[in-house]
Amino acid sequence: MKALVKQSAGSGFVLKDVPEPSIRDDEVLIRVRRAGVCGTDVHIYEWDDWAKGRCKPPFVVGHEFAGEVAQVGKLVTDVREGDRVTAEGHIVDGRCLLCRTGNAHVCPYTRIIGVDRDGCFAEYISMPGTNVWHLDDNISFDIGGIHDPMGNAFHTALTADIPGATVLITGCGPIGIFAVGICAAAGASRIIASDVNDTRLALAKTMGAHDAVHPEEAEATVKRWTNGLGVDVVLEMSGVPSAIHQAFALVRVGGRVQMLGIPAKPIDVNFATEIIFKGITIYGVVGRRMYDTWHQMTRFLRSGEFDPTPVITHRFPLEEIDEAMRVIKSGEAGKVILEIA
Ligand code: NAD
Ligand code: ZN
Repeated sequence: MKALVKQSAGSGFVLKDVPEPSIRDDEVLIRVRRAGVCGTDVHIYEWDDWAKGRCKPPFVVGHEFAGEVAQVGKLVTDVREGDRVTAEGHIVDGRCLLCRTGNAHVCPYTRIIGVDRDGCFAEYISMPGTNVWHLDDNISFDIGGIHDPMGNAFHTALTADIPGATVLITGCGPIGIFAVGICAAAGASRIIASDVNDTRLALAKTMGAHDAVHPEEAEATVKRWTNGLGVDVVLEMSGVPSAIHQAFALVRVGGRVQMLGIPAKPIDVNFATEIIFKGITIYGVVGRRMYDTWHQMTRFLRSGEFDPTPVITHRFPLEEIDEAMRVIKSGEAGKVILEIA
């Protein structure tokens, strides 16, 4: 089968013919139809310090996908050949303290497809049956293929108290833009989105942001809509140090900061003034809650109140991965997907 492979240390991916994955009795084989390209793939493509420390080539890359089940291991009872599915890409041990207390999203034994084992930028992928998630008939493979990053946004937004809240979203990459739509569907009373990039601010507006502003305008906008107090909730979705400080500055006293964006390096924080004396709560987001987030996502999509379609701006075949990477790095894109079959 065709697959994009991280062949060796160094930049780039190689499109090559590799054997189809074989499945164990508790796994299923999925024919991949759509795959999303994400920032993590860019790190692996560029072979930055994180990728060097984490990944062991050669392996098939990619972790966001949807497709059709092609083969089912004999211990998997609730998945059939031909089912339309996506999957949770974090494979957990299911046995540890975290997994057995409803916190599998922070399982210390997590292995991620396309990072720690073969991924989905390929014609087929094998997945444990427990990770498979069925798609409703009216959910396209396009939308199925972006459940992973959408799930990040659902997890970030819905673990805060959104109905009626004033919300600031710092960073309108694909995940931030999804979060705008989710907060709108969940009944936020004011959604202020900030980014440095006008294309992305326009997408945030399309998805329902009341205000889409540059970072330097965020303070005045927040104050205007909150009687000078600050927002109830900040979703920090950029990972940029100045935006993180701004999140702490513009959340109200007693408010909540949901931290999804990953800073490239350690940053200095004044715990006394930025966190403690403001009495705020900070929540670190890892992946998607298993499987609370998945149920919420499916129900929001089913309700028709949340439609992520406008976030997908570009599509490429596997052969054009270099162009896909260029488009992502340029900042001119929303979500970029690969059309595989
Ligand atoms: P992205 O890089 O496309 O989006 C980040 C956005 O922040 C960009 O649009 C950028 O223009 C904007 N930005 C830059 N400076 C800013 C500033 N000062 N104020 C406001 N916005 C600013 O990334 P994405 O794919 O949407 O992911 C968002 C973040 O979440 C990234 O840091 C990513 O690494 C992280 N992430 C975390 C998890 C997790 O489980 N915690 C999962 C996936 C991604
Ligand atoms: Zn575990």
